[in-house]
Amino acid sequence: MNSQDIEQLVRPNIRALCPYSTARDEYQGTLGIFLDANESPYPTGYNRYPDPHQKALKAKIAAIKGIPAESLFLGNGSDEAIDLVFRIFCTPGVDNAVAIEPSYGMYNVAADINDVEMRRIPLGPDFSLPAEALLAASDTHTRLLFLCSPNNPSGNAFPTGELVSLIRRFPGIVVLDEAYADFSGQGSLRTRLPEFPNLVIFQTLSKAYGLAGLRLGMAFASPYIIRLMSMVKYPYNINQSTQELVLKALDRPIDGQVAEIVGQRTRVAAALPAFGFVRRVWPSDANFLLVQVDDADALYAHLLADGIIVRNRSRVSGCAGCLRITIGLTSENDRLLQSLQAYEKGDIHR
Ligand code: PMP
Repeated sequence: MNSQDIEQLVRPNIRALCPYSTARDEYQGTLGIFLDANESPYPTGYNRYPDPHQKALKAKIAAIKGIPAESLFLGNGSDEAIDLVFRIFCTPGVDNAVAIEPSYGMYNVAADINDVEMRRIPLGPDFSLPAEALLAASDTHTRLLFLCSPNNPSGNAFPTGELVSLIRRFPGIVVLDEAYADFSGQGSLRTRLPEFPNLVIFQTLSKAYGLAGLRLGMAFASPYIIRLMSMVKYPYNINQSTQELVLKALDRPIDGQVAEIVGQRTRVAAALPAFGFVRRVWPSDANFLLVQVDDADALYAHLLADGIIVRNRSRVSGCAGCLRITIGLTSENDRLLQSLQAYEKGDIHR
């Protein structure tokens, strides 16, 4: 696909959009008496609008991620980026999108909000990538394909070769959500972005970076797609405190904690099959395990009554009988395993 093909995928009203120009777009200096933005002159620490382009933060994240800043978008969580791709590429009531199922629930919610039909294609055996079925479900009005690798809630990363071949063959925009990539040996496709003009990669600081409360999601894509996202976003989508706090937090390395989570994932995954009520523990490339048990509702209720909250995914298509368990601190995982032992012995909390 070339850049002209990509342009044809953009909604005509977005292609023609004249974006809002902020007071700080007009004057870009940092010194002077600011009487341009109708702010309060009394200092509170936050009386000035934040940088709408997040220049300092983008420079730092771009350096860490090894991509040019022009290929980076920052959003109020990945959830903002998910909504934006619908608004940029899909005409409501006309265009459609395709996604794997089960996957992260927000893709479907964002499709519904934007009045875009979502065609959900079940994963293959052992949660494999259903490449042919995804392509077969697409038609001339299909604008987006949502992939998530490692996938939530199945936990598996799809083989890079399969992802690359699908991105090359899909005649629209491929959104690849890599929220959990830091926990996977397979790594990220972001360094290969120049090969794929139709690829948008999402990552987030909510998982491995431990900053879910600050709400910072990232999208990596061609400078053209990043310009569209920047045009359509709210002008001040990343607030001042998030910009400052994230800049500081990024000085803290995450490798040690990621290695610990991965080590604990191996430990918990190895311990679970010993319980008689555990039917299956799916291999995970993420910071959680999908576990199929005899009676998911009963086990969920037991853990809850014992003060341990997991996610009951048993009513999600393809996940019958499954709980999704996030890997916590060693002490928290100890408590989980103790509680499972009590459940096995019949010492059930209700
Ligand atoms: N993508 C996936 C695959 C997720 O599982 C989640 C959170 N559960 C998110 C994105 C949300 O990311 P953020 O906190 O950046 O909105």
